Amino acid sequence: MDFQLLAERALRDELPSREEARVVLCAPDSQLDEILIAARRVREAHFGRRVKLCLLLNAQSGICPEDCGYCSQSKVSTAPVQKYKLLPHENIIARAKTAVEAGATRFCMAVAARSASEKDVVHLSAAVREIKSDPATCHLEICTSLGLVNAQKCRDLKAAGVDYVNHNLNTSENHYPSICSTHTYADRVETLGNIKDAGLHTCAGGIIGMGESLDDLLDMGFALRELEIESIPINILLRISGVPLEEKLQGVPETGVSHALKVMCLMRFLNPRAEVRAAAGRERLEEHQAKVLWPANSLFVDGYLTTPGEHHSDVRRWIEAAGFEIEGA
Ligand code: SF4
Repeated sequence: MDFQLLAERALRDELPSREEARVVLCAPDSQLDEILIAARRVREAHFGRRVKLCLLLNAQSGICPEDCGYCSQSKVSTAPVQKYKLLPHENIIARAKTAVEAGATRFCMAVAARSASEKDVVHLSAAVREIKSDPATCHLEICTSLGLVNAQKCRDLKAAGVDYVNHNLNTSENHYPSICSTHTYADRVETLGNIKDAGLHTCAGGIIGMGESLDDLLDMGFALRELEIESIPINILLRISGVPLEEKLQGVPETGVSHALKVMCLMRFLNPRAEVRAAAGRERLEEHQAKVLWPANSLFVDGYLTTPGEHHSDVRRWIEAAGFEIEGA
């Protein structure tokens, strides 16, 4: 297959057929460079060589009643994670300042909960207002990840100055019951509708390596396009000891580098104008990490919700050595 044709179609905002999309995932590794070159053409048309850095804050940790099988913060996980309720105002503001120092232009606050309470939304909204009114931090894009969010909470977040709200699809509709039983894929889609209806930007992505099939990945990629998701974080599953999926995936090989890169390219072909973000697990690509920036235009620095990541100075170094530019620098 000529992957440049896929790039040209993506540049015209045309979707590939499902079979063409499948070829991206099934292509032999000898064609990986061709796929990456084609994906980079689409990435550069919309984002040039810019890379957006994002910094996360786990604003409430380890006390979630849901049973997502991949998550160390779930009630069914025995992984040793920190447990604390919603952080006070000053910790949130301090972390926003750290984001600026790290060169991040997006600050993402996550709350481990089925659905953040109204009181928590008020608390976070006050912090966002302060971040947005301080000249030192006002340029940060703010993203919140609060579990299921209803229409009113979305309107409140919008009024406070939140830019993006994250709620990942994680996987396909078919595969969803294998990773979670306490809420449904449809619940997640409903939240994404509320986010969009409130005039907020949508952030939703997925996790690869949870035992999904190629069809599940295709379903997820096409669903993200259909939902017109604007920011798409793709995680490579970190197999954390103590989470339910750990046992389920015993004997299943870990996600390989070329598969991960093909999935990232597929997301770019299916969602040419969206921010495609290399999220948790991208460090596992090791010396191939820079290749992830051929399809992706954004990544996280200084760690994830419960797992360490890469220090921003190291990330900045390899990004620049690979010929990309840090956004806002
Ligand atoms: S809802 Fe979020 S925090 Fe709670 S278990 Fe699922 S992924 Fe983890």
